[in-house]
Amino acid sequence: MSISLSCRELGMECPFVTEGETEEVVLDSFMRHVQTEHTGDWFEGEEIYQAASAVVHEKAA
Ligand SMILES: [Zn+2]
Repeated sequence: MSISLSCRELGMECPFVTEGETEEVVLDSFMRHVQTEHTGDWFEGEEIYQAASAVVHEKAA
């Protein structure tokens, strides 16, 4: 089963969607996108990471 995560789910106006087999893979590719496209700010990045991992974890469960 693959897990998907989109920027919209986290309240960002962006068409980006990523998909992967594990939580790690999805979060990794999502955070790479966030860091290049949305924020260079470490604190904001950390907050997005927390929210993203909660969403992904729920989907994986
Ligand atoms: Zn995005």
